[in-house]
Formats: sequence, C-alpha cells, structure tokens
Amino acid sequence: MKAIRGATTVEQDTPQEIRSAVGELLTQICRQNRLSEEEILCILFSNTADIRSLYPAKAAREAGFTHPALYSSAEPDIEGALPHCLRVLIFAETQEPVRHVYLRGAANLRKDLKKYSVALDGPAGSGKSTVAKLLAAAHNILYLDTGAMYRACALKAMKERVSKIEEKTVLPLMQSLDLRIEYRDGKQHTILDGEDVSETIRRPEVSMAASEISALKCVREKMVEMQRRIASEQSCVLDGRDIGSFVLPQAEFKFYITARSDVRARRRYDELKAKGFDVDLAQLQREIEQRDENDSKRTFAPLRRAEDAVLVDTSEMTIDEVLSYIEKKIQEKV
Ligand code: C5P
Repeated sequence: MKAIRGATTVEQDTPQEIRSAVGELLTQICRQNRLSEEEILCILFSNTADIRSLYPAKAAREAGFTHPALYSSAEPDIEGALPHCLRVLIFAETQEPVRHVYLRGAANLRKDLKKYSVALDGPAGSGKSTVAKLLAAAHNILYLDTGAMYRACALKAMKERVSKIEEKTVLPLMQSLDLRIEYRDGKQHTILDGEDVSETIRRPEVSMAASEISALKCVREKMVEMQRRIASEQSCVLDGRDIGSFVLPQAEFKFYITARSDVRARRRYDELKAKGFDVDLAQLQREIEQRDENDSKRTFAPLRRAEDAVLVDTSEMTIDEVLSYIEKKIQEKV
C-alpha cells in the first residue's frame, strides 16, 4: 500500500469551486499515479478553516469517488496559512512509484517537486494539438489548448454581437469575462458564462473570429495571465502561437511545429468533414493562409519561432514520427 499526498486551492469558498477543485485534484492524482478508483482504499481530506460551504469528502463522492472510504476535517485557523486550501492524503494499492500532486496556489507548497513546461507553437493545422495531447498523456501531465481560450473570447464577442472587433468594443467584454478551463477525465473543457462551449468554439466561423480578436492587446493580456497562472501550478504541455516566445520564455522544452499550407488545409478539411461540417478545401486553405498572416503580422506577441525552439516540419511526417522525434529531443535535454 502507498500513501499519496496532494493539495489545491480555490479562489472563493463556493460549493461549485470546491466541487471543481476536488474533482480536478483527484483526477490528476489518479492519472499521474495510474490509479483507478477501485485501487484507492481511502481519501482523507483536510481544509483550511475558511472553507465552510461544502465538505470536500462530499465533493469527492459527487465526483464519482464512491468506492473509497472518505473523510474530511477542518484545520485549525493558523496564522499565515495558505488561504482556501484543500489537502488530501490517499491510501492506495499500487506498485507504481508515488507522484504527489500540488495544484493551483498549493503548487508553491512543494517547490521540491520539479515542474516543467513544454511549449508547442506553430500555425493552424500543423498537428501541434494532436501531438500536445499525446505528449501530455505520455508524461501524465496537463495539456492546455490556448487556442480554445482565444476561440472562447471570439465566441463571446459573437454572442454579444460586437459590431467591430477593436480594443474599445472588446475591452469591456474582457473586463467582465467569465471564462474557466476545467478538466474532466483528463479532457479540457472550456466554460464560458457557465456553459460548456468546447464544441461550439470549433466551428469554422469561430476560427476566423479568434484569429482577429487574438490580435487585440486587451485580449492577449488577459489570456496570457491565465495561461501563466495555470502553467505555474503544474507541469504541462501548452500549444499556441506565442508560448515559447512570449507566454513562457523560460519553458524547459520548446518546439515550433509547422507544415506546408496545403497539407495543413487538408488535415483541417478531414477533421471538419469527420465532424460533419460542410467545408470547401480551397476555401479552408485560403482561411488558413489568412490566419497565418494575421497571426504573424500582429504587433503584440505574433506567431514566431522562439530562437531556442526546435523546428519540426511535419509535412511529410506521421503523428507517431513527430511524437518520437519530440520525445527524443526532450530526453536529450533532461
Ligand atoms: O490553435 P487554434 O486554431 O485553436 O487557435 C485559434 C486562433 O487563436 C489562432 O488562429 C490564433 O489567432 C489565436 N491564438 C493565438 N495565440 C495562441 C493560441 C491561439 O493568437 N497562443
């Protein structure tokens, strides 16, 4: 039997936040330790005294952890303690080496657990998100799709029927933006105004609008701040346009993934067709090229290969080849 530790924080003492934080923490502990719920004997929670709205044990049961014995207790109110903190001790039947998991504000509690970031940048359709997902799963770390965040901003502007995308019209939307990134069963969910928009933001018209809105400083500042916070809390793979060059210039591993525009258009075409969208290949290629141009020419944090990023041209490569090349480069550096 092994003992696994973990902790996380919430911003506010609300049942919704506690549910989401407990679900995320337990999911991450299971993933990183390759544990199924049946292998967990018991989960002991403690929480700082400022958490009163929901027992973490109840949140765990609601998140589907019905097999293990659950227990939670409140910690004494100790001066200087990290606020709104949820701690967990898990006893589980496992032979694997133990990985303790500290998320969000609690990440700083254990500076000895080495975190790292992998930045995958490149133009649309280069294959980076497929590679990023597989890489994150292989390393048992988080995958953050930053494009989804810009897409959500674009959807917000579309829903609000913003007449013209410019700083003056979009800034108020950013100031009141209710955007959350959540993980369920290891999959990223983009929650806008309380609604899961993960599928809607993939629509082709949202892609173009995302490219346009992402050029605005007020949008990028807000998104980059969220991305840096998420990356500071745990090891993760991030894909985007400016991760290695701007968001995380200190990222341990950086790659710039590209491919010819006709190859990229064909990949997007196959992907969208499989999802049932009626798309035109030539039109998609024009849009991809337009997006490349928007993304590389914008003044603030444009699409650019960081000087220390490894270039990978995937035009003639399979996903498996790209993945093993990237893994090889990572192993060479560690
Ligand atoms: O990668 P994806 O196609 O989902 O991104 C949608 C749009 O969001 C891109 O065309 C780009 O303009 C923008 N984006 C960005 N910076 C990122 C990720 C995406 O500007 N880090």
